[in-house]
Amino acid sequence: MSQDLLSGVTEVDVCSICQVAVPGPFLQPLDYKVPPNLPLPVVGGRVRVSLRNRKLVGVVVKIITSDDAAHSNALNYEVSKLKPIEATLDPFPILTGHVLSLLQWAAAYYHEPIGNVLQTALPKRLRQGEAAELAGVSAWSLSKDWKNLSHQLSPRAKVQWQLIDSLKQNAPQTAAQLKQQFRNWRTPLKRLQSLGIVTETTLNCATSFHLKKYPETLSKIPSPDLASQKNTHCKPLAKPILNTEQQTAVDTVLTTQGFTAYLLKGVTGSGKTEVYLGIIEQVLARGQQALVLVPEIGLTPQTVARFEAFLQQPVAVMHSGLSDRERHCAWHQVRTGQVQVLLGTRSALFTPFKNLGVCILDEEHDLSFKQQEGFRYSARDCLVRRAQMAQIPVVLGSATPSFESLHNVHTGRYQLLTLSQRAAQAQMPEMKLLDIRGERIHDGVSNALKQAIRHHLQAGNQALLFLNRRGYAPVLMCDDCGWQAACPHCQHFMTFHQSVNECRCHHCGHQVAAPTQCPSCSGTAFVHLGQGTERIAQALQADFPEAKILRIDRDTTRHKGQMAVMTEQAAKGEADILIGTQMLAKGHHFPKVTLVGVLDIDQGLFSSDFRAPERMGQLLVQVAGRAGRADLPGEVWIQSRQPTHPLLRQLVFQGYDAFAETGLQQRKAADLPPYAFQMLVRAEAVQAQAAINFLNFVKQQLYLVKIAELNAHEYMEILGPVTAPMMRRQGRYRYQLLLQASHRRLLQAWWGAIEPLLYQKPATTLSRKVRWSLDVDPLEMF
Ligand code: ADP
Ligand code: ZN
Ligand code: ZN
Repeated sequence: MSQDLLSGVTEVDVCSICQVAVPGPFLQPLDYKVPPNLPLPVVGGRVRVSLRNRKLVGVVVKIITSDDAAHSNALNYEVSKLKPIEATLDPFPILTGHVLSLLQWAAAYYHEPIGNVLQTALPKRLRQGEAAELAGVSAWSLSKDWKNLSHQLSPRAKVQWQLIDSLKQNAPQTAAQLKQQFRNWRTPLKRLQSLGIVTETTLNCATSFHLKKYPETLSKIPSPDLASQKNTHCKPLAKPILNTEQQTAVDTVLTTQGFTAYLLKGVTGSGKTEVYLGIIEQVLARGQQALVLVPEIGLTPQTVARFEAFLQQPVAVMHSGLSDRERHCAWHQVRTGQVQVLLGTRSALFTPFKNLGVCILDEEHDLSFKQQEGFRYSARDCLVRRAQMAQIPVVLGSATPSFESLHNVHTGRYQLLTLSQRAAQAQMPEMKLLDIRGERIHDGVSNALKQAIRHHLQAGNQALLFLNRRGYAPVLMCDDCGWQAACPHCQHFMTFHQSVNECRCHHCGHQVAAPTQCPSCSGTAFVHLGQGTERIAQALQADFPEAKILRIDRDTTRHKGQMAVMTEQAAKGEADILIGTQMLAKGHHFPKVTLVGVLDIDQGLFSSDFRAPERMGQLLVQVAGRAGRADLPGEVWIQSRQPTHPLLRQLVFQGYDAFAETGLQQRKAADLPPYAFQMLVRAEAVQAQAAINFLNFVKQQLYLVKIAELNAHEYMEILGPVTAPMMRRQGRYRYQLLLQASHRRLLQAWWGAIEPLLYQKPATTLSRKVRWSLDVDPLEMF
């Protein structure tokens, strides 16, 4: 309850009370009354309310009618003093199909104010109070019979003939398009329409967006409005015949009664996408919809085209690159059932569907499914929850499942589906561990690997080199005194980028021209320590002057569309050597790559983060998976100075499954997730002490909580406050407090007990100059 209205008197009006989730630091929804002159709001619909003189858009999560209220002793304030809502924005719920319950569950589980959670779920235009429905747009084309009918037209009706000409070239056209070509077109068009020469149609929002963006490519865009149009983009695919394992996976999911979570573990190139498509096709045939989540870098135009071609219908897309209108449009089409499939990144999770039949999440181990700021949720875990609420199957796919998900298979929470073979002809690549101890390698690539590259290029194939570090060199150092270029805002060196002659901080984006004189000793000689992709590409060009080298990393793909151009070049075999960061490692299909070289994987073996080996293993298998995907056999060379490291050897010689089993045993022995549960409280401040004081207060409160007696094998502990692995970032000092317990329920209860205190004094005073956050099930400690 809220609004400073506590007064002990219960006097219930004959009016309804709305509980409204509004943006802001409120753990609970706020209560408003519904004035008699307004239409009654609905649960899951928006209302406009005022709060501290600000107008806000909120979502109604509950309505208490006077009858309920009379029976409820929860209302210990005078209803008449409640503020009224100011407008009812939706006459019907817009957060339908379990989405409101999902958001409420997520708010409680991640301890995020419900209003902020709703902010994540709603397209911006809806948060601003715009109408939820999107009207179609009128567009005009020539009628079938226009040639005959046009005899009625005078040869002197200039604009009308010009209009006909334009519509002959390109149709249908919207008012916006016509306006660009003609000053006065409405009256002439009306006349053409009345003569039957021109016909009017209504385009849905998606089609009109495509038209606006690509006026000339209309015919290539699949659209329900234009079903009759020739659709070159959407040519039916020759669908491969599924192999036995694929077919079993599809059938198992399709025969699921109610909810089951499946882990689809399929080696790279085993045809997981084919399984997803097979499932979706049948779900659509039943008249239901499908939600597919992919990592940010997996959502390429090729992926969308593949889905549309296979399913022979348009697919709605949702990712961070959309405009507000486009996002609203996709949301609207999915919610109203105009489109049956939504393909999106993390935030698409919360889109309401008309009749959702299956949830799919590809590359389930991928870190991008966890939001790392604001509302820190795991889209994977929330998706499983959503499927459970909707009582439908959910499929999580990966070649390298997270240790958590493998553990969930062991405990029976997930059911395993396996694709053990590469689809079609392709064989798994051969792995080689290359001992580079003692070799003085100047530019990152050992002599043996260079030989191998030469070999593969001579055979007319491609080589792919992987190094997860962009720029020229990670450290720029004065040759005389040892001074190193470091970021003034972060506790980190700045990476030297040669092409722009700059030093850049990869953590905060700070950039400066590379020094010509050492700020410490005025020396003018500098050395570059270590390698980035830029340096490797340069060095290799010297070794292979004839070869066309393509570098693919965040620096070379900064411009929109560049990534697509480069991956297409790579796929067509127009480059000989590909070198890149993890952008290049995942998901791509380059049929001519037969050699993959992994330049530096050792850092993953010696990190303080207990998840580092898991990440290393996943990345290595994903990169290796780029080799030999078509009918040419592939090999993978891994350079290492730790060739005897047991984990690395197990990964290379026994494969990911064995590696993951060992990893899980080690986690169990060390009481680490998934055998324990964690929450991380982060605090950062310009004054280090402010952050420490706040965390100490939190710790104190946690100690004061009276915990019911713990059973045997149950425990709860607090570690910290300690400095974050990156102690200073963007000018702030960073500290953290780690809470760990044997059971989720204990941790939730523990935090729940102190949570309200953190939104009151003295906590709010202590945290005034502190940014703090809670991360439930943290994946990265940074
Ligand atoms: P994954 O996502 O598991 O790495 P993909 O779904 O991208 O693999 O499939 C790899 C390649 O194998 C694709 O070119 C795909 O068209 C092809 N493929 C998949 N299943 C089959 C099949 N049953 N028969 C022939 N080719 C297939
Ligand atoms: Zn110096
Ligand atoms: Zn920085």
